[in-house]
Parts: sequence; structure tokens; C-alpha cells
Amino acid sequence: MQQFLPRMEIALAQIRHNAQVLAKRYGQKGISLMGVSKATLGDPAVALAMVQGGVTAIADSRIENIQRMQAGGVVTRFVLLRSLFSRAETTVIYADISLNTELDTIAELARYALLHGKIHQIIVMVELGDLREGVLPGDLAQFVKTVLTWPSIKLIGLGCNLACYGGIKPDRQKMQTLSDLTGAIEQEFHISLSIVSGGNSANHDWYESTQDVGRINNLRLGESILLGRETTSRRAIPGLYTDAFQLIAEVIESKDKPSLPYGEACQDSFGNLPVFHDRGIHHRAIVALGKQDTSIAGLTTDRDLEILGSSSDHTILDTGNHPLKIGSEVSFHLDYGGLLAAMTSPFIKVLTFDP
Ligand SMILES: *Cc1c(COP(=O)(O)O)cnc(C)c1O
Repeated sequence: MQQFLPRMEIALAQIRHNAQVLAKRYGQKGISLMGVSKATLGDPAVALAMVQGGVTAIADSRIENIQRMQAGGVVTRFVLLRSLFSRAETTVIYADISLNTELDTIAELARYALLHGKIHQIIVMVELGDLREGVLPGDLAQFVKTVLTWPSIKLIGLGCNLACYGGIKPDRQKMQTLSDLTGAIEQEFHISLSIVSGGNSANHDWYESTQDVGRINNLRLGESILLGRETTSRRAIPGLYTDAFQLIAEVIESKDKPSLPYGEACQDSFGNLPVFHDRGIHHRAIVALGKQDTSIAGLTTDRDLEILGSSSDHTILDTGNHPLKIGSEVSFHLDYGGLLAAMTSPFIKVLTFDP
């Protein structure tokens, strides 16, 4: 039988399990989960596994991914994590909720919501120091005041996002600030905000170490559901699978070769001057997988294999004591960057399994 190579194998039962454990654990202190699907490009089977595991919505940064999941039969609430002014119409058609930080964009959403006879729900993201998206706390009241003037927009909550760009930890103080802002906005405008979305997979430590989650009642989790890790230091979360995804590539060369390149040194294909350590003649293999397919730095293997380096289409392995057979398969685990890139490669066939 012809196998697809390279291919990504996704164990849906492991993703369902991770979602289930996390939904239960976070649920104990009143926190609901949005399952974040962007790393899989909105693979419908993966999203469905998250929903079966107990997430109450699916969130993605790309409207195309949301459309794909809907076309694939996933029925849940869909949240758009990143709003585009130019896609306001598609956003109100396909997303139930969107995260927003710009009044011009919300005005555009309001215009199209009105046109389509819809009420579009929004969560306003607040800047708390990571310096990616967010309205500055000092501007929030004025911002909300304007949002409340559009009848086709319903402000359902506030959120924040940390540990993404600036590498700032979601700690007790940040979460307290978000809770306080929620209370202040509710009081000032006599409204009630049903969602306070405190962050992402980096909020795990904060959650485990806090007795009182304050007003935080939602998190948006991608990596911890998919790869079983928290993301402030990438520790595995006890009780979760970290290997739901396996990337499998084909051995296309296997020879004993020197470990030091020979000849006059120059730049490699990516403009670097590589440095090598002499380990003598050794068993080496090339697998047909490269930087065009994934982030090779994010790959690991269970076997006694060492990834020496890669170029656009080749990855070089030190295969230890044993030569590998031509045409045989090597499987890798991935980090989030590797997963994101591999799922985006048109050369990798994605296969889901649900035993
Ligand atoms: C990607 C993303 C998430 C999910 O982050 P993980 O670290 O994978 O849990 C949450 N919120 C926003 C706004 C995102 O863009």
C-alpha cells in the first residue's frame, strides 16, 4: 500500500482527552474554555474532538478556518480572534463573536451586522503589557462608550492576551487588573459583561496557584489542548497527552559519512556560516522534509536519532548505532511552531485517527 509521505498523523482521542481534562479542571473554578483551532488550520475533526471534550466555543484567528470548520459540519459558537476591517462582512456572517481593539473596525462590523439583520457580539481586548493587541486601560471607558452607541453590536465581555509577543506572564496582578476593569466598566455604563477571557495556555500557572479567579470566567486554549503543555516554560501538564501529533517523513539517503564538511567554507543556503563538531565517520540519514515544510528546530524524536540540521527540503540525522533503510519512516513530535508550519505546508498530508 502506498503511504503518504511526509504525513501528519493526528490522534483525535488524545485531543478529546486533553480538552476533557482541561474543561473539567478549569470548570472547577467557573472557567469555560474556547478551543483554539488555528494551529491546525481549522481542521474540522480536531475542532470536533475539542467540542466533544467540552470546550464551549471554537476560536480561530482566520475567517477561512472558521468557514472550513462550518463546512465540515462542526456545530458550536465560533469566535474570531483577530478582526480585519476589510473582512467585516464575512466576519458578521460566519463568526458569532469577534475580539476587537479598533473602533473603525467595530463601526464596519456594526454597518454590516445592520445590513444582514444581525447583532454581532464582541469582546474588547485590553492591553496589559504584552504589547500585542489591546485597548489601553486608560482609553477603555471612552472606547466602550462609543461601542455602546451601535445597536447592531453587543459588547459581551472583556479579554486580554499575554505571553505572546512581549513574553509577559499572566499573573495574579494582571488578572486582578482585568477583573477590576470589568467591574468598573459595568458600574460606569450599567451593563453586565458575561465573558471575561483572561488569556491562553500561559494562564495555567496562575490558575493552579490562585484560590480566587476574580471575574475571570473564560480562557482561550490552543497549545495546552493540542500539545498538552502550558506555555510560560513549556512544561507538560500532568494527565495530558503531549504527542497527539506525529510528523512522519521518508528516509531518502543513508550512508556513513564524515561529520565535518570539507573544502573552503562559505555561507549555507540560508546565509549562515555553520559550525560543526568532528565526531568522525558516522551513520547519517537524510529524510525528505525541510524548512519549507516545518520548523525543524521544533522537532524531536523518540528514537536514538539526532537532528543535525536542515535545508529547504532535506533534514540530516545522525542515526547513532544503526543505519536506516531507504524508504523507511522516521516520526517526529513537534512544538507549537513546528505544528503551525507543518499544518500549513501544502506538501504534508494530514490524517486524523479516531480508534
Ligand atoms: C492563538 C491565540 C490563543 C491561543 O493561544 P495558546 O497559547 O495556543 O493557548 C488565544 N488567544 C488569542 C487572541 C490568540 O491569538
